Amino acid sequence: MSEANAVYVVGIDLGGTKILSLCLDASHNIVGRDYRETQAADGPDRIIARMVQSAHAAAGGRKLRGIGVSAPGPLDTKRGIVTEAPNLPGWVNIPLQQLIRDQAGVPAWIENDANAGALAEHRLGAGRGTQHMVLVAVGTGVGGGLVLDGRLYHGASGGAGEVGHMIVDPGGTICGCGRSGCLEAVASGKALDAAAQRIAAAEPDGLLARIAKREGETPDARSLDLAANDGDASAIEALTRAGNFLGAGLTNLVNLLNPDVIAIGGSVRKSRLFVQTAIESMQRDAFPQHRADVRVVDAELGDDAPAIGAALIALEKLNA
Ligand SMILES: [Zn+2]
Repeated sequence: MSEANAVYVVGIDLGGTKILSLCLDASHNIVGRDYRETQAADGPDRIIARMVQSAHAAAGGRKLRGIGVSAPGPLDTKRGIVTEAPNLPGWVNIPLQQLIRDQAGVPAWIENDANAGALAEHRLGAGRGTQHMVLVAVGTGVGGGLVLDGRLYHGASGGAGEVGHMIVDPGGTICGCGRSGCLEAVASGKALDAAAQRIAAAEPDGLLARIAKREGETPDARSLDLAANDGDASAIEALTRAGNFLGAGLTNLVNLLNPDVIAIGGSVRKSRLFVQTAIESMQRDAFPQHRADVRVVDAELGDDAPAIGAALIALEKLNA
């Protein structure tokens, strides 16, 4: 294929703090990249202009055929609207898809960031070659996405895949969403940070408090993990408890969806005790047949996943 006919698309990952644009060719190679601050206080108009500039910068003069956007939810993907973005002030009912299309002059599509990340992991990462994959991303919050029968599963209006808001501890800790006992409330980075701070306050001379001081950080998920590795009983108990909640979430997903693969992403997966406890809990509780079918693996694409997924959506829509 000559350069003039080559197909290039850009995937833009819009976050509360950064905009990442990746230019992909039709063979899924990343051929260009642009990273800039979102400057969320600027509001939708200026941020959307910045996104389009970022897409062109990533393209580096190549002619773009389409743009995929990964945006924080909730979204109405059918109508291309960001319904509400908690980390982006002023983003209520923004017709992002149309605005990007109008300003960039090429077709555009939008997808929830967790779904875009799940699609990328399925096509190019941990779920390659499988039919049914669930992404569970445990970072500050808990996100995820479902790829079923080889396709992103959207549900009635694009809201499917909110794995972080499965209720695993009814009546438990209040979640950011206002409900009680969601997976995100009891087994996220935020939940582990809170547990670390509780332990350090209750045991100011304990191992966890001393580790956090040595590392020069507020007690958090990382110091909790370090303390557990050094045998701190309170840290081990907190990580085991949170791991069992994650395990309940995994068991529900395995029994409900019978996936081939569950990919675990996000920074908190680095805590082996937390993740191992979750996997063992799922292996104990899931139906034997389902348990035999599923592999639980690390996600592979890291922070690039949503932008890659957004670009893949553009490529797949163009080829549809
Ligand atoms: Zn919730």
